[in-house]
Amino acid sequence: MKMPIDATLNAADLRQRAEQELAAKAETLTGNLIDERRPMYELQVHQIELEMQNEALQEVRTVAELALERYAELFDFAPIAYFILGIDGIIRQTNLRGGILLGLERSKLVGKPFAQYVSSEYRPELKQFLCNVFASVCDGSQRCEISLKAGDNIRWVKVEATADTSRQTCLTAMVDITEQKRTEQELQLAATVYTVIDESIVVIDKNYRIIAVNPAFTEMTGYTAEEAIGQSTSLLECELQDKAFYQEMKDRLNATGCWGGKLWHRRKNGEPYFKRLTISSMYSVSGEVIRRVAMSFDITDEFRAEDIIHKQAYIDTLTELPNRRMFFDRLRQVIEKSHRTNRKLALLFLDLDHFKDINDTLGHDMGDILLNKTTQRLKNCIRETDTLARLGGDEFTIIMEELEGLISIDRVALSIQQSMAAPFQLKNERCHVSFSIGIALYPDDAIDTDGLLKKADQAMYAAKQKGRNRSCYFTPAMQKASKTRLRLINDLHSALGDHQFWVAYQPIVELATGYIHKAEALVRWQHPTLGLIEPTEFIPVAEDTGIIIDIGEWVFRQATNQVAKWRANGHPLFQISVNKSPVQFRDKSDCHGNWAMHLERLGLPGSCIVVEITESLLLDMTTIVAEKLLVFRDAGMQVSLDDFGTGYSSLSCLKKFHIDYLKIDQQFVNNLTADSIDFGLCEAIILMAHKLGMKVIAEGIETTVQRDLLLQVSCDYGQGYLFSKPVSAEEFEKLF
Ligand code: C2E
Ligand code: MG
Ligand code: MG
Repeated sequence: MKMPIDATLNAADLRQRAEQELAAKAETLTGNLIDERRPMYELQVHQIELEMQNEALQEVRTVAELALERYAELFDFAPIAYFILGIDGIIRQTNLRGGILLGLERSKLVGKPFAQYVSSEYRPELKQFLCNVFASVCDGSQRCEISLKAGDNIRWVKVEATADTSRQTCLTAMVDITEQKRTEQELQLAATVYTVIDESIVVIDKNYRIIAVNPAFTEMTGYTAEEAIGQSTSLLECELQDKAFYQEMKDRLNATGCWGGKLWHRRKNGEPYFKRLTISSMYSVSGEVIRRVAMSFDITDEFRAEDIIHKQAYIDTLTELPNRRMFFDRLRQVIEKSHRTNRKLALLFLDLDHFKDINDTLGHDMGDILLNKTTQRLKNCIRETDTLARLGGDEFTIIMEELEGLISIDRVALSIQQSMAAPFQLKNERCHVSFSIGIALYPDDAIDTDGLLKKADQAMYAAKQKGRNRSCYFTPAMQKASKTRLRLINDLHSALGDHQFWVAYQPIVELATGYIHKAEALVRWQHPTLGLIEPTEFIPVAEDTGIIIDIGEWVFRQATNQVAKWRANGHPLFQISVNKSPVQFRDKSDCHGNWAMHLERLGLPGSCIVVEITESLLLDMTTIVAEKLLVFRDAGMQVSLDDFGTGYSSLSCLKKFHIDYLKIDQQFVNNLTADSIDFGLCEAIILMAHKLGMKVIAEGIETTVQRDLLLQVSCDYGQGYLFSKPVSAEEFEKLF
């Protein structure tokens, strides 16, 4: 029986098996045979033997062919390029990969010298390599790395070869390492750039700790890598850049991953430097920041140069004041701002009187010294918000913005004139100079830069005409008003000491009953020559000069004496309202407890005084003002919000500061009729005040119609000429 052929058995195995089968068959036959049939039998055995040998050989051949086929397939489709090279370097055979590697059909490669496809600079190396392979200089296979020319491409390969010395060939395996080589080169390039670049590079982690720095960083900051690594980037921070700046930078980095800009940092030696900085971030797969790379360039010199250029363009070199160009820029900005905020601004045009004479007699050097000294004096006369500029020669300008009242202009002008009164010492010479000042107002006199400057210049000319060393407004009416203000400032100083003030009282009536519950104390100025001056005229001047603090204190004391008297004389719950100016509230020297202590000394309860404040006070509510209001409350004094509706009260302010009374301004009461808008407004104000737990006082009631309408919408109290004008205390007593 023939055994099945196992394709995995080799030729030797098959032969061995055939011999075993043959021996077994022979043994069986031998036992049964008789001697006379032996020759016949031997012939038969020989035939069987031959047959079997043929079969075995056939099988061996089949197996060998199968193996060869398999080897050919492996060779052809191997993922590595194989070349069989002769000792002469000629390609004898290659696989598919080999063709792909060199970009040619493999049939075209056979018979060509391999060196033809090697970059010329590597040909000697390849030659040496093959020599070594054939000479078997080293044991086993040989290795090298070379670059090949595949058409227009250069490909890097790692070569490994073993020689078949009997056939005078070698099997060469080539692995394409072009990508790996490229990455290596890029890394090498990056590393070189990192070390040789002028730009400082800092690698930080997500917590802003420094992980790596390059040599340029050390050059720029003075910190070595050892000193910097492990430190926080705050090491470099400089106080020229505030905390908010760094916070904004971090916020932006967190939001977008990058930041770019210019900033100040500090070197190790303490010197600040200005740099351009860009930061970018690297993230993990989960989106977390792993590294940030900060690249920066020192631009301090550039910055300084720009600064110098800026100064040359905008700053007057002699006095270091803004020059004409910067003045116009500034004026334009301030006009825009005043337009938005609806506030006045003043432009003062100053010209030194007889400056030419000084230049002519003492020389220009002395003239320059004088201009510098004058600048110093001018700087001392202006407010922080004012802009002083030199237009050229002996011409200066002052822009005054955010004007509360025109009185501040008068004060600056006056103070300039006073400061110029003292003589100037110019080396050995003493000289006297003065300014002629022209004043123009926005928007009253002009609404643009050129117009305003022209008007101020004309006003300055008028001041020169009038005899120099004086100021002049462009508009005659302004000039007159200014004159009066200056006179009032002068006279107010002595008015209190000379007992020119007295207090008038105006009743505040409970509308439902007509009963006089309270009175408002209103100050009066009996001027020795000008007669009775209205508070509306002198209070703003008193506020601007600060004299209001003394006047206000005096009125309060008068009012307390008066309320004590009336309470004792049959009106035990009587209250007097005292107006307190915002200037008094802001005065730091005013001891909070003053008024409360004074009442205590007189044995009066706090409830006998109501403090009248204005809406503007609530708006710029500083802690000091809030504290003072609290002290009043603690002492039992009440607070009333005067002229309600004329300013900007926010409802939150009303709630926050526990106001007891709202005083509806007289402008709402003046034209009160049943179908007027003002009536609707009054009703709304009263409703809102009641909801917030406040009582309402209507000011300026002059007719019974007004009173009845207000009563109809539940207004609590009224004040006005209908009941009485403000009168002296004696007159007031007759009203009770
Ligand atoms: P105010 O506090 O709103 O005072 C009410 C003003 O309205 C008073 O003017 C008063 O005379 C006037 N008035 C009252 N009833 C009527 C009326 O029926 N018709 C008209 N047309 N007017 C009426 P006055 O006394 O001229 O005071 C003006 C402002 O001066 C006061 O307004 C107050 O803001 C301020 N003032 C007066 N005295 C003082 C004071 O001692 N200290 C402070 N800081 N300011 C004061
Ligand atoms: Mg008042
Ligand atoms: Mg009022």
